[in-house]
Amino acid sequence: MADPQGFMSTPREEWPRRPPGERVRDWHEVYVPGALLPLVGRQAGRCMDCGIPFCHDACPLGNLIPEWNVLVARGDWRAASERLHATNNFPEFTGRLCPAPCETGCVLAINQPAVTIKNVECAIADKAWEEGFLPPRPPDRLTGQRVAVIGSGPAGLAAAQQLTRAGHTVVVYERADRLGGLMRYGIPAFKMEKHQLDRRIGQMRDEGTVFRTSTEIGRDVDAAGLRACNDAVLIATGAAAWRELDVPGRELAGVHQAMEYLPLANRVCEGDLDVSPLSAAGKHVVIVGGGDTGADCLGTVVREGPASVTQLDIYGRPGAYRDQGAEPWPTYPKVYRLSVAHEEAEHLRSAPEADADARLFAASALRLTGDARGHVREIRLVGVDAARRPVPGTERTLPADLVLLALGFSGPDRGDGLIDRLGPALDPRGTIARDEDFETNVPGVFAAGDAARGQSLIVWAIAEGRAVAAAVDRRLTGGDSRLPAPIGPSDRPMTA
Ligand SMILES: Cc1cc2nc3c(=O)[nH]c(=O)nc-3n(C[C@H](O)[C@H](O)[C@H](O)COP(=O)(O)OP(=O)(O)OC[C@H]3O[C@@H](n4cnc5c(N)ncnc54)[C@H](O)[C@@H]3O)c2cc1C
Ligand code: SF4
Repeated sequence: MADPQGFMSTPREEWPRRPPGERVRDWHEVYVPGALLPLVGRQAGRCMDCGIPFCHDACPLGNLIPEWNVLVARGDWRAASERLHATNNFPEFTGRLCPAPCETGCVLAINQPAVTIKNVECAIADKAWEEGFLPPRPPDRLTGQRVAVIGSGPAGLAAAQQLTRAGHTVVVYERADRLGGLMRYGIPAFKMEKHQLDRRIGQMRDEGTVFRTSTEIGRDVDAAGLRACNDAVLIATGAAAWRELDVPGRELAGVHQAMEYLPLANRVCEGDLDVSPLSAAGKHVVIVGGGDTGADCLGTVVREGPASVTQLDIYGRPGAYRDQGAEPWPTYPKVYRLSVAHEEAEHLRSAPEADADARLFAASALRLTGDARGHVREIRLVGVDAARRPVPGTERTLPADLVLLALGFSGPDRGDGLIDRLGPALDPRGTIARDEDFETNVPGVFAAGDAARGQSLIVWAIAEGRAVAAAVDRRLTGGDSRLPAPIGPSDRPMTA
């Protein structure tokens, strides 16, 4: 414990964000550059170094949080980086993007604000890059075994890095023109700038991982042939099959899925397009879906200059505090959270008819109506109760020139023929079924990440990638692997 008084003498202080009015005018990360390092040492000193650190279990990677908190509080950044990278391949991603279930599991959070664990993680990662603590770590020798990884999201990348470092020859196949999965074309740059991805992928290239972009397995390369040419194949293709809005008017022009809209905005940031063809500029926008994908749409819309933007959430407004009976500490509770996008919408007063943060809670879409040219112009909605039953007398209409659907994802995309050709069985949820070793019913074909777990988080995808790498390594080396496996395929977040 670096500072025995720290949790009593130091209040929680987070990495400051730039003023909303400033940051909606650009696509850079929302944080004040350089403002984290001066405060993070004292924040790490708030860690009580508990005998049983629940934050460990709450983090799917089993990050050694109290260990690196002490090292940061003492200013030993090199050792902190070593401890952090012992369990997490990509802490600069999770340090920016993770919802930090570790912080709701922090023992201090029982009766005080938690340690700013995610900020400490991010500071260690950024400092490690800055100080040159992260040179490539190529293997000492090659095993001669070949592994094909399909998909370059966090699950595929983590597995590829672990397997390359273990000496296997790894090729990552990605259907998009750039690497990174949802971190590249889903998550907006204001949450994580893409140079973070490019730098880490550069390290992986220097270690020997080979990448093939614009290559869709199932269409451009025969999936069965790929299996035949490799000692193991990993399917890490994500859960891109989106859920639909089943209401009259869905077919109108101007109604789009979130993952049709967000990639175009990301392409503007990458310099591929001057303006997004689906830009929200000057339009009345309604986002259907109250989750994080909807919030990413909201943050993107407010940067494009809409006439108005409203986000519909079918659930009621959550309370400010944890329900101790239903969701006791250390579980991750459903409480009211103001994301960076909601903070911006609130500042802009972007939704005249909704809550200040642009959300309409307990609201459900009934139908969309269009103009004579078949373009959406209005959305009719109704208030619902906790059982999602319409509440009489609550119907209303909002103007809508652009409707974005953010209703979640059901499982892997079937359109490319990969699953049909390679033959892994699906479970009843529509995700890829696998045994306790992450192996599908097809020998030598493994599955990890959202494709098998279902829609989840980056921290789970990295944990899946690390765990499946250990399973593949065991198979290729005849039973023995030194690679760590932080989770099993059926592990789930802590619940009451
Ligand atoms: C808009 C959005 C925002 C999100 N924000 C966050 C966040 O802030 N924090 C967080 O923790 N989680 C977030 N998530 C969830 C998180 O991004 C995912 O859980 C995570 O990326 C899953 O990783 P993955 O590697 O399994 O799959 P993905 O990241 O989906 O990557 C799969 C890759 O496989 C490729 N692929 C698919 N089929 C083929 C094929 N046949 N051949 C070759 N390549 C193929 C795809 O192009 C893709 O690049 C968000 C999700 C969305 C949709
Ligand atoms: S990866 Fe997420 S859960 Fe784990 S320590 Fe970092 S912020 Fe916390």
